[in-house]
Amino acid sequence: MLFSDIVGQKHIVNRLKYLASSEKIPHALLFAGPEGVGKLTTALAFAQYINCNNHIDEDSCNICSQCHKFSHLIHPDLHFVFPVYKGNKTSVVCDDFIQDWRDFLLNSTYFRSSEWYQIVAEEKGQPIIYADEALEIIQKISVKNYEAKFKVIIIYQPERMHVATANKLLKVLEEPPAATVFILVSSQPEQLLPTIVSRCQLIKFSLVDDISIRDYLTNRFPQYAEQEIRQAVLLSNGSVPQALQFLEKSENNKQYFDLYVRLVRLCYEIKRKKPKVDEQIKWVHDVVQLSKEGQKDFLINSMRITRDNFLHHAQLKSMIHQTKEEEEFSQKFSQFMPYQTALFVYNYLSTALYHIERNGNDRIVFTDLLYQMMKHF
Ligand SMILES: [Zn+2]
Repeated sequence: MLFSDIVGQKHIVNRLKYLASSEKIPHALLFAGPEGVGKLTTALAFAQYINCNNHIDEDSCNICSQCHKFSHLIHPDLHFVFPVYKGNKTSVVCDDFIQDWRDFLLNSTYFRSSEWYQIVAEEKGQPIIYADEALEIIQKISVKNYEAKFKVIIIYQPERMHVATANKLLKVLEEPPAATVFILVSSQPEQLLPTIVSRCQLIKFSLVDDISIRDYLTNRFPQYAEQEIRQAVLLSNGSVPQALQFLEKSENNKQYFDLYVRLVRLCYEIKRKKPKVDEQIKWVHDVVQLSKEGQKDFLINSMRITRDNFLHHAQLKSMIHQTKEEEEFSQKFSQFMPYQTALFVYNYLSTALYHIERNGNDRIVFTDLLYQMMKHF
């Protein structure tokens, strides 16, 4: 991870570079601030920077052997502590989940904690850092550094540490091992033991500025129109994963909208006695390609578009929020969506949702939806 991978937070990067150059690297840092502002990304970039063999003022070189291992998260002197979930097992430690964690971070270091919880615990329980982790930490710091100038131990969400682990960590921080840097990454620092906080150098992160989020999104997703990027920035609230979530959703919504338009056109063609059987089969084929969650989202989205079309027809435009594309479609199409038709279509979509949620055969459910809807156009 490089400093240049961090979105915004320039003053923090400058402060960390200054710390690195002053040769007075604190043995414990607390990166505190809201979720989604780049604390973990910065921790990884800092760990790489202080160990890079040829870093320049700007950044790590990203080609030396240290950079290679840090950027792939496989350096033997880079350790992670993060919340996990033991389920029925009697004991688990973070290293049991290290491959999942690495894969997760290599995909993106900008994420919401709920995304990690989903992987580690699905929806079954609340992940924490268990008491057994204390021994792991002590073992890791008692081994001599393999090759790094600084062993780095990144503790993600230290506020989720079991009290026994927190007390052990406190003891470690009271007599810090040489050539080791702890970086605590917390969005709820007020829940940490004050004695732990007082032993760390505090680095406070604030929300990411709009211009940095805009530039990041524009570079990473050149396929999006300026208007979509602007809207994502507006809704991001200074959080990078929130902006990403908006774009992802808008991409899916486009696909759902396209499927809805095709569905309605097929129904309309039937009315004009031009049944396009090939296209009907193709439509069912395309919709069952979606994941089960995608199929549900498609139906929910279609219910909203149906309702919006009816409101458009009833001249109640002030009650709806449509994208430009949806509005253009409504202008042409809402004449075919009087109250009775809208009600039938809405009910069929709702019935299809009911069956998909209860694991109905998707091919049958969507074929049935298509033929039921055709009767009402
Ligand atoms: Zn390097």
